[in-house]
Amino acid sequence: MYTTVLVAVDLSEDSKKVIETARKIAGESSKLHLVHVVEPVTAAYSMDIYAINVSEMQQEAIKFAEEKLLEIGQQLTIDADRVHTLLGAPAPEIRNLANEIGADAIVIGSHGHSGWKILLGSTAIKVLHGSTCDVMTVHVGKND
Ligand code: AMP
Repeated sequence: MYTTVLVAVDLSEDSKKVIETARKIAGESSKLHLVHVVEPVTAAYSMDIYAINVSEMQQEAIKFAEEKLLEIGQQLTIDADRVHTLLGAPAPEIRNLANEIGADAIVIGSHGHSGWKILLGSTAIKVLHGSTCDVMTVHVGKND
């Protein structure tokens, strides 16, 4: 039985299935952690001509993700200190956090926003490469 399980969610509807599966593989006394990584707003939008405040947009995205993830955590009675909203590239951030919290398993969806047709380059594959603990993918998508 795994003792510390990190569940990576993209905040889509599929997140529920990923979390449910994580609960099944986690033991009664296991610690379940949730993570969502907000990707940096790209520099392309920071050009003055667009008149967009990039740092405001970034803060809004982080705030939205934090609230949404905390809401999911509360529904599942996961303590707030085990709910992590991070900023950066999803795969390395998920792997680093798994190391930090001493996770013995990462649970992640097989597909997400990028769609079920795109497997290569998906977050799940990137997390798998270089991970130092078990990685379980949960089949999600249109063909389930
Ligand atoms: P994708 O790479 O978009 O096909 O997503 C595959 C799976 O990776 C999703 O079902 C989530 O479990 C996870 N995932 C994707 N993006 C993120 C993210 N930004 N933060 C945390 N997990 C993510």
